[in-house]
Amino acid sequence: MRKLLHSWALLLCSSVSTLLLSGCGVAMMSDERLARQSTAQFTQLKKKDPVSKNRVYQKMIERIGKRITDVAKVDVPGTDWEFVVFDKSEPNAFAMPGGKVGVNAGLIELANEDEDEIAAVIGHEVAHVAKRHSNKRMSQGVGVALGGILLDTAMRNKSSSDRALARGAYGVGATVGAVLPFSRSQEREADDLGLIYSAKAGYDPRASIRFWQKMMSKSKRKMPQFLSTHPDSGKRIEFLKSRMPYAMALYKNAK
Ligand SMILES: [Zn+2]
Repeated sequence: MRKLLHSWALLLCSSVSTLLLSGCGVAMMSDERLARQSTAQFTQLKKKDPVSKNRVYQKMIERIGKRITDVAKVDVPGTDWEFVVFDKSEPNAFAMPGGKVGVNAGLIELANEDEDEIAAVIGHEVAHVAKRHSNKRMSQGVGVALGGILLDTAMRNKSSSDRALARGAYGVGATVGAVLPFSRSQEREADDLGLIYSAKAGYDPRASIRFWQKMMSKSKRKMPQFLSTHPDSGKRIEFLKSRMPYAMALYKNAK
C-alpha cells in the first residue's frame, strides 16, 4: 500500500514539477539511502572545498552543534551529526540529510563569533534535517530528472548543442542535493523549529533577529549565496519577531 502510494506520488510529483518546478512536498526516497548518498557527497565536498584550519572555529561549531542536536535528537534519533567549518569568506551554511552540516568561516565572522547568533543559523540548518526537507526537495529533483528525460525525447530532432543546453538547464536543479534551494514554507518551518531548538539549548533567541539583520544589510551590497538558497529575509525577521515571546519563555526555562 505504501509502495503504491509512493508510485502515485512520484507520478504526481513528476508531472507537477515538470510543469511548475515547484510545489510537491512528498518525501519518498528512503532516509537511509539519502543519508548514505549525502555522506558520500559531503566527503567529496571536504576534499574539493577548503576545510578551515581554524581550531577555535571548528570547536565552536561542534560545541554549538552538540547542544542543539541534544535538543533535536527526539525528532531525529540515531543521526550521525557532523559539523565542519569551510574556509570560505561568503556567509553561508548548509545542511544535508543524515546530519552533515557545513558552516563557512565568513558566517562566523559576520556573527562576530557571537555563539547565540551562530546557534540561530545552526538551529535553522538542523531543523531542515529534522523536517527532512532535502528529501522532499530531492524527490522533486527526481521529477525534474524525469522531466529531463522527457525533454531529451522531445528534442531528439534538434541540434546537439540545443539538446546539451536543455539538459544543462535541468541538471542544475536535479543534481546538487546540498544546495538545492528550499521552498518558502520549508524556510518558515526551519525558522520556527530552529528558533525552538536554539532557545531550548539555552541560546538567546533574540540573536536570530540580529543575525538576519546583518545578513540583510550585507546582501544590499552583495547578494550572498546563502540568500539564494535561503530566500526571503525581510519576512523572516517579521516572523521571528512574532515567535519571540514563545521562544523567550523556552529560553528562560532552559537557563
Ligand atoms: Zn534554510
